[in-house]
Amino acid sequence: MYRSHTCGELRIADIGKDVTLAGWVQTVRELGQAITFIDLRDRYGVTQLVVSENIADERKSAARELKREFVIQVSGRVIERTSKNPNMATGDIEVAVGEIKILSKADTPPFTIEENSDGGDDLRMKYRYLDLRRGPLQRNMMLRHRMAQSARGFLDREGFLEIETPFLIGSTPEGARDFVVPSRMNPNQFYALPQSPQTFKQLLMVAGYDKYFQIVRCFRDEDLRADRQPEFTQIDCEMSFVEQEDVLQTFEGMARFMFKETLGVEFGVEPFLRMPYAEAMARYGNDKPDLRFGMEIHELTEMAKGHGFSVFDDAEYIGAIAATGCAGYTRKQIDELTEYVKRPQIGAKGLVWIRLDESGEIKSSVDKFYSPETLRTWADGLGARKGDMIFVVSGSRRQSLRVLSELRLELGERLGLRDKTKFAPLWVVDFPLLEWDDETQRFYAMHHPFTSPKPEDIPLLDTDPGAVRANAYDFVVNGVEVGGGSIRIFDSALQARMFDLLGFTPAEAQAQFGFLMNAFRFGAPPHGGIAFGFDRFCSLFGGADSIRDYIAFPKNNSGRDVMIDAPSTIAPAQLDELFLKTVKPE
Ligand code: ASP
Repeated sequence: MYRSHTCGELRIADIGKDVTLAGWVQTVRELGQAITFIDLRDRYGVTQLVVSENIADERKSAARELKREFVIQVSGRVIERTSKNPNMATGDIEVAVGEIKILSKADTPPFTIEENSDGGDDLRMKYRYLDLRRGPLQRNMMLRHRMAQSARGFLDREGFLEIETPFLIGSTPEGARDFVVPSRMNPNQFYALPQSPQTFKQLLMVAGYDKYFQIVRCFRDEDLRADRQPEFTQIDCEMSFVEQEDVLQTFEGMARFMFKETLGVEFGVEPFLRMPYAEAMARYGNDKPDLRFGMEIHELTEMAKGHGFSVFDDAEYIGAIAATGCAGYTRKQIDELTEYVKRPQIGAKGLVWIRLDESGEIKSSVDKFYSPETLRTWADGLGARKGDMIFVVSGSRRQSLRVLSELRLELGERLGLRDKTKFAPLWVVDFPLLEWDDETQRFYAMHHPFTSPKPEDIPLLDTDPGAVRANAYDFVVNGVEVGGGSIRIFDSALQARMFDLLGFTPAEAQAQFGFLMNAFRFGAPPHGGIAFGFDRFCSLFGGADSIRDYIAFPKNNSGRDVMIDAPSTIAPAQLDELFLKTVKPE
């Protein structure tokens, strides 16, 4: 036996026991000649070892040879510590070392492997296996494991079957870009890696499997951001003979179960809030509102026009938020916020401010055009109080809401209102079915082409497709879209109509999705489902913004795995075999 206990296990009750531990040397501290302290680490924790003067010389010299990250095995007796460490689970005890055996030596690690590392991002990515030894990452991996287990357990008990779907499938031009894989046996033909198992899970419903789930890798060749990776994991689910309400209830149950089981967080008995998309946009400027705080958007378009202020007079939309307790903002702070919303990603042209002093006085950057009485009506409409600062934004409706949403989130951040230990879940429902794209002058499916329109909106498909609402829903927590899904079209004629609206010719639709439309001709049950972004779900539970630290081996911002150095070139012979030629990039 290599060990009798782990490094996170020993407590005061174990005093007097003879134990054997194995693990990595985190630190070695010598207290003069006589005593050496060693922190020994494994994934269960850290235990302090003490090598004192009264052990044999050869062991003392073994102890002296130890360096960081050596793998050792030690035997000794558990003793009570004279100075206890309340911050450590094993902090009441230490192990008085009798034997030390070096199992594996280690080069000096490129960064410190402790709670807080001194290594930069790139270095830690290159030596990911060392970074993964650190407590924070180990806790993330364990959280991820627990979340996967709790989702799996819940779904199993609800009668869902875990069924695998293929990774080598066909490419479709809809949605994000595909990763493609050349086929050696089928010259000049390519597989694509799935962006999601969408069509397969629908086929499983046609096949009668009734309730399916899979914790599955998905691949999308998109530009990367903090919350995106080229390969990511979904909890992908589908159910037959259901309406939207059935799906929401089932997965609200799953979310509640996961919150409770893994975080001990419980929500009241009231169902999670349901908010129509249009309302989320009007009140928060965003289809994934962060409901941990208020500061809602109020439209001022009617009130603010016609006072000779041309910026507002020419605007399609004028809206405002009241920043709680921010009346004291200095010129500099206002300028900073203005610069923030003027960044190209947000694209504001400027910010108008209205200050509600503690004294009750109103001042604004548009005093020339608006009387204090007028401004006070705006403030009343916004529910603003003395001590608040109102920010007004104008322009196109779409752009202004975007700016107000970003401004609201930034202010929430600055005011400390986005507490990572609080969770505000909701369902956003009634999404539009289609989204018009000015550039390509066509409609795109807002969710995906298999999403069904609301039955009462079907007549609008002919007259006003943009106004058609879908049976689509998102699960949102703290401003993060954690999951999304829809009730599907299960009628091949309606599916064909949908492809037509999306600009597919019947031949194109047949070529790409014929297999699905054909399947629907053989008895398709009504069905619907949802997929949760599992990595995001994990980072949300962990209170982090980036998903990267919840994935064992993630890619960097250029989609590279710098540890194994991928992607990489392949040998000419391999290219030949695949009938491929490479060209030099310009
Ligand atoms: N396949 C969809 C997605 O990946 C989710 C769903 O509709 O179930 O977003």
